[in-house]
Amino acid sequence: MSLLTATIKRNPFKSLSKSVFKPVPTRAMHIQSIPMWEGTGNNYAYLVTDDKSKDAVIIDPANPPEVLPVLREKTDSGAIKLSKIINTHHHHDHAGGNVEILKHFKLPIIGGKDCDKVTETPPHKSTFTIGENIKVTALHTPCHTQDSICYFFEDGNDRVVFTGDTLFIGGCGRFFEGNAAEMNKALNEVLAALPNDTKVYPGHEYTKGNVRFAKKVLNNDAIKRLDEYSQANKETQGKFTIGDEKEHNVFMRVNDPDIHALVGKDQPVEVMKTLREMKDRS
Ligand SMILES: [Zn+2]
Repeated sequence: MSLLTATIKRNPFKSLSKSVFKPVPTRAMHIQSIPMWEGTGNNYAYLVTDDKSKDAVIIDPANPPEVLPVLREKTDSGAIKLSKIINTHHHHDHAGGNVEILKHFKLPIIGGKDCDKVTETPPHKSTFTIGENIKVTALHTPCHTQDSICYFFEDGNDRVVFTGDTLFIGGCGRFFEGNAAEMNKALNEVLAALPNDTKVYPGHEYTKGNVRFAKKVLNNDAIKRLDEYSQANKETQGKFTIGDEKEHNVFMRVNDPDIHALVGKDQPVEVMKTLREMKDRS
């Protein structure tokens, strides 16, 4: 008897578990990032597909020359059935591609009230589905713009949130149309209430700059880990969760005594306001 057969006879289940009883993969929505204006705006569009029905949505396809070839190839090959454009807010580098995309695909546009050609603005906490499995909840998060909406996607145990310019990995958007109280509510009430394992997909790759600022404010282990990750990886979207943001994002740590000591304030809205002013000057 060879050594190999002896091993198999002694450990039949060990051998079988490797070859036959592979764990059934959990169902998962498919997310394709499409980087746009790399090196300048560093935006992301996202193509999200319900694997079973092939129903798909495109989020913030702002630069059609970079997005249309992907959509063309996938629709022509039958890999996806594109059903919607979704916008996180009206800024040109998010909703500015709508008119051009509509020339090639006849689609409804779900987005905030000021988005180009918007057909429907979903109310706060309203839901819709993509294909058979993906449930989307619209979360109004006014501040960066008054029409900012984050979209929470759930497919079984897989949860993600598309945050536009409201929440970035390790940072937040500028308060162009809102104030610190609104951003505090958006980040620390609305988004913080999502399950901690929700993965974050922001509208831009801004992580390196955000970490540079975070390190001036706080130097906890989570910020050190984010620093290392962002130095080693060009893309950080979908790699961190709402739970991680609560640890490494200083704008989600407005109750941290070490930050209070630095900014000389302890009320969350005041802390948010001061942090944003410091970041804008940095
Ligand atoms: Zn914006």
